Amino acid sequence: MIRMGKTLHWKVSHDMILQRTRSRHFGSTATAAAAAAAGKAGTIVLGTGWAGFNVAINVNRDVPLTVVSPSNHFLFTPLLASSSVGTLEFRCIQEPIRTVLSSKGRYVQAMAKALDPDNKKLICETAFQDVFELEYEKLVIAVGVKPNTFGIPSIQEGNGIYFLKQLKHARGIRNNIIDSFEKAAVPTVSEAERRRLLSFVVVGGGPTSCEFTSELHDFIKQDVSKLYRELLPLVKITLVEAGPALLGPFDVALQNYTHGLFRKRDIDVRLGTAVTGVQDVEKVGYHFMCREALLSDGTKLEFGTMVWSAGLAPQDFTSSLQDTLELHPRTKRIVVDEYLRVKGYEGSIWAIGDAAVNRQGTPLPQLAQVARQQGIYLAKVLNGTQGQDEKKFHFWSLGSMAYVGELKGIYDGSSFGEPGMNNNPKVPQITGLMALLMWRFAYWGRQTSLVNKMLIPMHWFKSFVFGRDVSRF
Ligand SMILES: Cc1cc2nc3c(=O)[nH]c(=O)nc-3n(C[C@H](O)[C@H](O)[C@H](O)COP(=O)(O)OP(=O)(O)OC[C@H]3O[C@@H](n4cnc5c(N)ncnc54)[C@H](O)[C@@H]3O)c2cc1C
Repeated sequence: MIRMGKTLHWKVSHDMILQRTRSRHFGSTATAAAAAAAGKAGTIVLGTGWAGFNVAINVNRDVPLTVVSPSNHFLFTPLLASSSVGTLEFRCIQEPIRTVLSSKGRYVQAMAKALDPDNKKLICETAFQDVFELEYEKLVIAVGVKPNTFGIPSIQEGNGIYFLKQLKHARGIRNNIIDSFEKAAVPTVSEAERRRLLSFVVVGGGPTSCEFTSELHDFIKQDVSKLYRELLPLVKITLVEAGPALLGPFDVALQNYTHGLFRKRDIDVRLGTAVTGVQDVEKVGYHFMCREALLSDGTKLEFGTMVWSAGLAPQDFTSSLQDTLELHPRTKRIVVDEYLRVKGYEGSIWAIGDAAVNRQGTPLPQLAQVARQQGIYLAKVLNGTQGQDEKKFHFWSLGSMAYVGELKGIYDGSSFGEPGMNNNPKVPQITGLMALLMWRFAYWGRQTSLVNKMLIPMHWFKSFVFGRDVSRF
């Protein structure tokens, strides 16, 4: 019965996707061509993020590898906030997947859309809506997650609202920030409208939001103060967090330290407050469309830029697996065993990174270091240097770090070691310049290519000495 249900679900998804494609292409020629080009695959890795990328770079050449992902690059997410204000340039925080794969495997730019695990088939769709089918021997699902908008219809990308998850988001934010300053500098724009354009609302108080807020504040203090001096008094940064504290996963002392820094910098931190929506408002005398954020306490905040980083939701592909694979009832992450295998498909399907959750023990956090270690572990299994039920996956936390602005960082060593073990080494908390140096050194050391190892310190030096580039194109 279950098998029939799964087959039926596969058929419905498959037919729906093909129907959509045919209506665009009046036939299946494109599908057939794509399928022929794609052909059969041995091991398929879905995703080029922290998890998928680390499988790809660590598997041996003799593993017949196909990587399928809509992004043809790996993004070094911890440095994304820096690139959104120009402290670092976009290209130095990514690695093209083809450079890394070279002769090792092949890459197909497409998204997985549906899975038939019983027949080991996958339906993928390209950006041009071409649909093709791939067969696999082994499948690694590493599709990550997407931003969670909690079903609020008005929270949509565009018109001043940005997520902070992909390179295109950082590009959009950087252009919008510069655009807002240029618009505000136009002599015919009123002071009220200038204030609106230069009002930045950051939604979410987690590490990503706090790092973005800190980078934005650095940009304003170091560059706006020189390049748009007359506009400086009109700039306002508001950080809205629904929970009771900033930096939820960090130790309370570090939360308070960061909150204290933000207070000193006149960053308006609103805890216990949620953004419930956004609306357009007609303002007499305004040149540009005005939008305001609606807060749960009844306040309305006009803004020029809103950065939404308030939570994570499963990718559509992961959600589509709910009748096929076991998903966690609340988080909808794919449940895996201690060997990162998917129940019922041991030996053929693994799930890793943010998209997956361990059945045993405390759920691991959705972090780059978890995804990276899982990717490296799985590469060993695929290489055959470790049997797939020989050695369980163990996560070893290196602690948590964040950049909190003005050349200060925080490091929380309380989570250092293996989660749930009592004999983990005691590692102290570190704040200030020392923590920043650790943060920079750690992320510099994690770069894969020599090119990025050279470019990143050069950009840090350039931004520090000569300021950030404010050209918009
Ligand atoms: C701005 C930011 C800063 C962060 N900073 C830190 C930090 O400092 N430290 C830390 O530990 N963690 C950090 N994280 C979290 C960390 O980035 C994630 O935990 C990590 O990226 C998870 O890796 P992943 O491979 O599971 O997913 P991702 O890295 O999100 O990769 C998912 C991949 O799957 C692809 N994909 C999506 N859908 C499909 C599909 N249907 N078919 C095929 N491919 C698909 C995507 O294009 C992408 O390539 C940060 C995250 C962000 C957004």
